[in-house]
Amino acid sequence: MDNAIVTIRQLSKRFGSTDAVRDVNIAVRENEFFSLLGPSGCGKTTLLRMIAGLESPSRGELLIGAEDMAHTPANKRPVNMVFQSYAVFPHMSVADNVGYGLRVTGVSAAETRQRAHEALEMVKLDHLAQRRPDMLSGGQRQRVALARALVKRPKVLLLDEPMSALDAKLREQMQIELTRLQKAVGITFIMVTHDQQEALSMSDRIAVMDNGRISQLGTPEDLYERPANRFVADFIGRINLLDAKVVRANGEEILLNIAGLGHLQLEGEPPSTPVSLAIRPEHVRLSAPEETEVESNCLQVDGRIARQAFMGDSSQITIETENGLTLAATQRREDTQSARWQVGDSVLATLPAEHCRLLAA
Ligand code: ATP
Repeated sequence: MDNAIVTIRQLSKRFGSTDAVRDVNIAVRENEFFSLLGPSGCGKTTLLRMIAGLESPSRGELLIGAEDMAHTPANKRPVNMVFQSYAVFPHMSVADNVGYGLRVTGVSAAETRQRAHEALEMVKLDHLAQRRPDMLSGGQRQRVALARALVKRPKVLLLDEPMSALDAKLREQMQIELTRLQKAVGITFIMVTHDQQEALSMSDRIAVMDNGRISQLGTPEDLYERPANRFVADFIGRINLLDAKVVRANGEEILLNIAGLGHLQLEGEPPSTPVSLAIRPEHVRLSAPEETEVESNCLQVDGRIARQAFMGDSSQITIETENGLTLAATQRREDTQSARWQVGDSVLATLPAEHCRLLAA
C-alpha cells in the first residue's frame, strides 16, 4: 500500500507456550485513526507494544514508513505511546510535565517552552500550564498525558485503552475530543480498546482480534453490516444468530431450513455448512399476531415479549418464541407500535430475508 505508515507482515509473538499474536498482517495508513479491538487476552496490547518497540516479535516484519524496525529500539522509533495509567510527575507544573521529554533529549529551554505551549493548545489545556497535575481532574490529567506524547511530534501515536480510567460521561466527551484532535494534528493514531462502541464511533478502520489473530479488518460499517464470521458478528453490536441448514444451493440461490422457524431463500452461496443466519435486532419487525399479513420470503415466528429495556431513543425487546428461541428486537421510539408492547404480550416477529446474512457456524 502506497500510503502505509505502519506495515505489519506475518507478525507473531510467543510468550512461553502462549501465542499472544499470530501471523498478523496490517497496513495502517497515514492520518488514519486505527483501532485494535477485541476481548481481554486477544493480543491487542502485545501488538501495540511491538509497534512501540517495547516487545520484540518472535517472527515477522514491522516497518514504519519504509524502514524496518527490527533493530530500532523504542526510543529511536517515530512513535509515542499514551498508557492506560497516564502517569505524570506530581512535583512539576503541567507545562514542565509536557516539556520534560524534550528537555532530556537536549532541546533548548526556549524551544521546549514553545513546543509545550503548542501541545497544550492542541489539547485545550494551555490555560492550566502552570498548575500542578494533582490539581487537575482525571480528564485534564489524561490530556496532559496526550500533550506529553504529542510534543515530540511522533508520526504515530499509540494509545492503550486511553479512556479506561474515565467515567462514562467524560469518556464520551474525550472520544469526541480525541477524534477531533487526531484529524487536526494529522498524526496516525493506533488505539487499543475492548469497547466496541468506542472503536466504532472513533475509528476510520478497525482490526478485530480473536485469540492472537485478526478476525476481520474493515471500516466500522463493514464490521457492522458485513461481519465476516460469527465472532465479529457477536462482538460488534447486538445480533441474532440462528442455526440453519442448507437444504439446497445451486450457486445462485440457497434454500435454508432454520431450526424450528421454517424455510428461507437467500441469494449467493453458503460460506460453509452448517451455517448461522444472522440478523440485527433493528431489522426484526414486531406486530400483533392478529394484525399480521403473511409475507413472502421472510421468517415469521410467534412469541411472547419477555423483557423490554428502555434505552432513551429506543427499546431493546427480548422475545421468547414458542419453540424456545430467544430473539432480540430494537424498536425506535418514533415507531408508535413500540409504546404498545407489555411484557407477556403475544407478538409475531418477522425476519425479512433481505436483512439476513449467512455466516460460517
Ligand atoms: P487486555 O485487554 O486484558 O489487556 P489484550 O488483548 O491486550 O488483553 P495481551 O495483553 O496482549 O492481551 O495478552 C495476550 C496474551 O499474551 C494473554 O494470554 C496474556 O496472558 C499473554 N501475555 C501478555 N504479556 C505476557 C508476558 N509478558 N508474559 C507472558 N504472557 C504474556
